[in-house]
Amino acid sequence: MPVFGHDALHALTRAVCIAGGSAAREAELVADNLVAANLAGHDSHGVGMLPLYVRCLHNRSLLPNRHAELALDRGPILVIEGGRGYGQVIGFEAMQLGLARAAEQGVALVAIRNSFHLCRIGHWAEQCAAEGFASIHFVNGVDHAPLQAPYGGRDARLSTNPFCAAVPGEDGAHVVLDMATSEIAFGKARVAANKGEPVPDESLLHPEGHVSRDGAVMFQDPRGAMIAMGEHKGSGLAIMCELLAGAFTGGLTNQPEHPQKGGTINNMLSVIIAPDALGERDAVRREIGAALAWIKSARPRAGFEEVLVPGEPERRHRAARLAHGIEIDPQSWSEIRAAANAAGVADRDIDRLFG
Ligand code: NAD
Repeated sequence: MPVFGHDALHALTRAVCIAGGSAAREAELVADNLVAANLAGHDSHGVGMLPLYVRCLHNRSLLPNRHAELALDRGPILVIEGGRGYGQVIGFEAMQLGLARAAEQGVALVAIRNSFHLCRIGHWAEQCAAEGFASIHFVNGVDHAPLQAPYGGRDARLSTNPFCAAVPGEDGAHVVLDMATSEIAFGKARVAANKGEPVPDESLLHPEGHVSRDGAVMFQDPRGAMIAMGEHKGSGLAIMCELLAGAFTGGLTNQPEHPQKGGTINNMLSVIIAPDALGERDAVRREIGAALAWIKSARPRAGFEEVLVPGEPERRHRAARLAHGIEIDPQSWSEIRAAANAAGVADRDIDRLFG
């Protein structure tokens, strides 16, 4: 499998964004976010998103150079209008505002509506954790045909609605639970289809209603549907993400009467909690450390080598990929190159970056 350096992928992403009309700072934030997702092991949300982003720039469902606009500012509550701007800018600026407000008030409730793809939600939780704040995020996705079937259904009614919660850890070892509420993230069906590999069992439904292990069922017409993780519990969490992020923020939910531009709009409801809002800072930190040590001390059961806590797999991927590079399968790479060309980045400029 071809291996790419993170610096060159970062430079390519910047070049694509700038060719698509972005200011330099925006291009930098998008590149930071996509490459960080690859480094964390989530290729579903890395530079492989560029074909979607370029398509959406062209159909104007994604608008460059937008910023987080405050639609409501009341005590700990901030409502942010994303204006179909890059989620990498809207998410970053919204978290900055939310962190400042939580520092003042102890807690901030940040509602983002109508942002383009917020991508890997753990990125926003990590921005909060890096400042010592805990956070909880409910997200829904609209503007495209739904992807995920509710428990017991065979028709898609929801997006893959991610949920994320994080608490800061020692020396950057934050505990970050960040997951699609579907059994697999949508991008993982794309990556599996591109690699010609089967998806995990019980993760996709064929349009005729039976379980399929072929990621391609999500890219055909009629399309299949994604199965919720954890049966009724994951499906219930997906529905709560839909209602909290899609309706309570003043954004939109997946309903047939809402017009769709074929983009990926995310709405997100976030709670950001200051480290000393509820308990004494050092005591909280000690309690977290002791709880994690106890959890990790469980003896591994058959088939497992050790107990990991959320966020550990991503940290291990990051260390390995920083050292050894990021693998991208040939099909995904040719789609990324085609997207770069479509944005206006010539082949010779791409070749120069990857020397
Ligand atoms: P995943 O299944 O790989 O990981 C889910 C969580 O489980 C992570 O917090 C991870 O640290 C933890 N984990 C993984 N293996 C573990 C182990 N062995 N022991 C303990 N914990 C473990 O993630 P996913 O559901 O495929 O989601 C991938 C990404 O997709 C996420 O970053 C999510 O934010 C993103 N996403 C975004 C959208 C969007 O609309 N923007 C939609 C869906 C998903």
